[in-house]
Amino acid sequence: MARAAVSGRLTWRVARLVSSREENPSARTLVFDVPGWPGHLAGQHVDVRLTAEDGYSTQRSYSLAAPADGDRLELTVQDVADGEVSPYLTEGLSPGDPVEIRGPVGGYFVWRPADTAAPVLLVAGGSGIVPLMAMIRARREASARTPMRLIHSVRTADDRYYTDELRRPQPGLDVTYLYTRRTPEGFSRPPGRLTVADLNTNGWPADFAPDCFVCGPTGFVETAAEILIALGHDARRIKTERFGPSGG
Ligand SMILES: Cc1cc2nc3c(=O)[nH]c(=O)nc-3n(C[C@H](O)[C@H](O)[C@H](O)COP(=O)(O)OP(=O)(O)OC[C@H]3O[C@@H](n4cnc5c(N)ncnc54)[C@H](O)[C@@H]3O)c2cc1C
Repeated sequence: MARAAVSGRLTWRVARLVSSREENPSARTLVFDVPGWPGHLAGQHVDVRLTAEDGYSTQRSYSLAAPADGDRLELTVQDVADGEVSPYLTEGLSPGDPVEIRGPVGGYFVWRPADTAAPVLLVAGGSGIVPLMAMIRARREASARTPMRLIHSVRTADDRYYTDELRRPQPGLDVTYLYTRRTPEGFSRPPGRLTVADLNTNGWPADFAPDCFVCGPTGFVETAAEILIALGHDARRIKTERFGPSGG
């Protein structure tokens, strides 16, 4: 499966929506049935293509939110205000509706449970949690013991993703939230963007040589990677995925 997931020719396949569920007020997880899906690795993404009746067509990339499950794929899409594609995916699709999907794409930003014993640091901004959640789920499915720490920056508690699943204790997985706009009651860190102290306190010491995966809006990813380097992490162990503009 792994070989097919990294190499292989990419062809467009018809995917039909099976179901969808709300993750937070601006994001939904979409479950698609994609006959003949070759499998994928945690961290990979797909291209989604929409074609209008007049032949106009456009495509966007979306990370796979969960490990491969036969012909079933899960994507989590955040509704970008005034976006061309994301509002259609989150609001315009009904069960049975088709889109085209091509993938899996990407062999760099991936984590395999059997790869290495190194601890893992996952740093996410907003919807950047999606491919990192696939890694957390892959770890759980494989009963891997790799210690993992997730640091997730969101605007408010209402903007968290996979909240119930991440609230359930998983041995060896630590989850830290950072809030940029408004904190829940009793939360001591004031609202604000990611800082050196956040990664120093809640990440792994550089001496532990963790594999670091950083994903989110472009500005967030660049800041996080710069801080990790400043904290002494090996640049070769920092893998990044940029989703697009930083937004406000
Ligand atoms: C490898 C990869 C994986 C991705 N995985 C995911 C994923 O799992 N979930 C997900 O929701 N998105 C993901 N994205 C982002 C996604 O591809 C689209 O860029 C996003 O859905 C916006 O598309 P749109 O057509 O709605 O907006 P567009 O019509 O392309 O843009 C509308 C406006 O929003 C701005 N904008 C574009 N993208 C973003 C963004 N990400 N954040 C804030 N503002 C933006 C644009 O500059 C423009 O002003 C991924 C991107 C990449 C490159």
